[in-house]
Amino acid sequence: MNSVASTPADTREGPRDECGVFGIVAPGLEVSKYAYLALYALQHRGQEAAGIAAAHLGGNILTLRDTGLVAQVFDQNALGSLDGDLAIGHVRYSTTGSSAWENTQPIYRSDRRELALAHNGNLTGVTELRDELVAAGVELRSTSDTELMAALLSTHEADTLEDAVVDILPRLSGAFSTVVMTQDCVVAFRDPLGIRPLVLGMIDGNYCVASESCAFDIMGAEYLREVEPGEVVTIVPGGIRTRMAVDSPRKAFCLFEYIYFARPDSRMGGTVLQAARGRMGEILAREAPVDADLVIAVPDSGNPAARGYARGSGLPQDDGFVKNRYVARTFIQPGQALRQHGLRMKFNPLPEIVAGKRLVVVDDSIVRGNTTRQIVQMLRDAGASEVHLRISAPPIRHPCHFGIDMPTREEMAAHNKTVDEIAADIGADSLAYISLEGVYEAIGGERANHCDACFTGDYPLGAGAGTDKYALEAADSTPPA
Ligand code: SF4
Repeated sequence: MNSVASTPADTREGPRDECGVFGIVAPGLEVSKYAYLALYALQHRGQEAAGIAAAHLGGNILTLRDTGLVAQVFDQNALGSLDGDLAIGHVRYSTTGSSAWENTQPIYRSDRRELALAHNGNLTGVTELRDELVAAGVELRSTSDTELMAALLSTHEADTLEDAVVDILPRLSGAFSTVVMTQDCVVAFRDPLGIRPLVLGMIDGNYCVASESCAFDIMGAEYLREVEPGEVVTIVPGGIRTRMAVDSPRKAFCLFEYIYFARPDSRMGGTVLQAARGRMGEILAREAPVDADLVIAVPDSGNPAARGYARGSGLPQDDGFVKNRYVARTFIQPGQALRQHGLRMKFNPLPEIVAGKRLVVVDDSIVRGNTTRQIVQMLRDAGASEVHLRISAPPIRHPCHFGIDMPTREEMAAHNKTVDEIAADIGADSLAYISLEGVYEAIGGERANHCDACFTGDYPLGAGAGTDKYALEAADSTPPA
């Protein structure tokens, strides 16, 4: 999926995951309602568009997709019209303006075979594949890499969708956790580096796949395992077939999923993220202690790490902010004057808690720094005597090319700056980030199996991800502070 513009009313300045996917084959169950619930649980992975495709076994595929939150796109009638035995679903961020609808997923195509496809990630080096399709007379309606993948599979000469996926997967590079359905199966596959998540579950003897395990919890499905990097899982009624299309020795699961993107109740790499994020806070307290009175979180994303920091440091913890839970996204775009108050709409500091206190303020990341600067100022205005920021991610200095929407290098708070310079920039009395080693300790994982390129500039160049573009990124890397 291509990078997207931010919505003016969106007050979350962090990098944004671009998609969540789901797939199920369950004759006799209300598959579109399960897809709806799963997408509802995956809403944090994409809040600007949602779509579901469904079919009866052997019947035609019906696709419904639109801009808006899951609950805005689908109502009882819409879900009723998506009756069927198998379904896939998708949530995403989309571009603003007229092209927004065209970028919604699942993508439907009916060339040699009828299919619908939904994708989380970002393909790289696709020019050759696109040229090949165009030369073969295949009509492409957009520049989206998702449509390219759908066209490659829809026009493929293999007898089955599964064979077509196994054939094209080694030719794709980048990040792609994908679900694709025909009239009789859902095929789920993951890039050889396993950059974006994809998990397998079961409900009443039927199989399903989703970006995160929280999608299974909401619908009462059981989490079985992760879809392996390079694996192709074909879901048919009551069973699965699985094949390894590419077995890459190098894995590169996104480290930022652990820190920030995924829901805290999701399970990744054998750990529930809430617990891993708490450990990050404990490690941060060990690595960067501070003489202070109180630990507060930037809610909600900083909550687990703040609790961990308080545990690790022995300092008391309280709520320094009340968060308005109902801001989320608004379709009213405020004018310039009102927009400056955007953060106040989201967080309100509590002077009774913070006044006169030396605060440790814990958050999960700093990207541009604008929000953090305003948070520090709000706390000072509310009477805090000192503001010490502790961040449960290392400094972000490099853009992501694997499906995460991030600002350019120059826009990043840590660009070409030492940690002390960043602290001065955002007006904090002190600033410290968790070390990269600290993050790996918290998740119990190894660098060799993860991507940490936005922190280190060390882009995974293993099978399927090496392009000149990444070679340049790697050459231009700045070591983390
Ligand atoms: S560059 Fe960062 S956000 Fe992107 S896949 Fe790697 S770790 Fe994740």
